[in-house]
Amino acid sequence: MHPLHIQTPLLEHRTLSASLNKQVWLKMESSQPSGSFKLRGIGLMCQRAVARGATHLVCPSGGNAGFAAAVAGAALGVATTILVPSTTHETVRQAIRAIGAKVIVQGDVWDETNQVALALCGQAGTVYIPPFDHPDIWDGNATLIDEVAKLDFDVVICSVGGGGLLSGIVQGLQRNHLAHIPVLAVETEGAASLQAAIQAGEVVTLPAITSIATTLGARRVAQQALDCTRQHAVSSVVVSDAQAVDACLRFADEMRTLVEPACGAALAVAYQNLPQLAKFTRPLIVICGGIGVDLVKLEAWKNQFNLAGTKQAISA
Ligand SMILES: *Cc1c(COP(=O)(O)O)cnc(C)c1O
Repeated sequence: MHPLHIQTPLLEHRTLSASLNKQVWLKMESSQPSGSFKLRGIGLMCQRAVARGATHLVCPSGGNAGFAAAVAGAALGVATTILVPSTTHETVRQAIRAIGAKVIVQGDVWDETNQVALALCGQAGTVYIPPFDHPDIWDGNATLIDEVAKLDFDVVICSVGGGGLLSGIVQGLQRNHLAHIPVLAVETEGAASLQAAIQAGEVVTLPAITSIATTLGARRVAQQALDCTRQHAVSSVVVSDAQAVDACLRFADEMRTLVEPACGAALAVAYQNLPQLAKFTRPLIVICGGIGVDLVKLEAWKNQFNLAGTKQAISA
């Protein structure tokens, strides 16, 4: 089967490399046709489902997972329904419809939306596509590491929402004989469901998500994500929303690429030169990307957190 995702660029972030005196690598998942890494895992899951006879894909997500499922469904030529909570912005609904998927607005929070999606999947031929919690998704996300297996890196930095990306990265490291390479798993304050699970010793449900990085806002991580922290050297790192947005602003200026705060969280580890990075010299940052960002949103977050960005106004 030819994959639905593309092989993404691997770039060196020269500005960060110079300021940190390290070699900083970027895996540019923002370049995927879905705008995020999600097409790797969700694309593979959809492809396998259709190969087994699925005629209708159903995905509950008002974000990058739903968008990736819509891209996959269109490429595979099957009916695709994306259920989104009422909080999903009209521009996102339009973007999903524009690719040919049906959008159903249902529920005020994802958990309600998900219940409706599960109910729809009773019919024959209809397959439920979760945002992160499935072995096919981890398997597909692992291809990200397959593509860099020959690179000389000594740590992977990635964001964590429900943990599908983390699970794929750990799987990718293990299947490429890179099991000794540690992972820094980054969340924002108010969306730190992996850190809560590690501290509790079991998967727990956060009472609420209070971070602006809503893409990281899974109230509980997949059991697989917690299991990864027991089978692999995974360190949990939590950054503030302000640090995540600051990283987005600097990244936009320096690499001319817009990414969501969900991705800024991983970048913040390097931009803030956090102590967890000290012992590494060749970090690989997963630029997970995301479609939930534009110049207007970035400007609003910049003002909300009172950030200057890198480029100060030049007065004559
Ligand atoms: C989905 C997503 C994440 C989090 O991935 P999980 O698999 O839920 O942990 C982070 N960043 C972006 C841009 C995403 O789309």
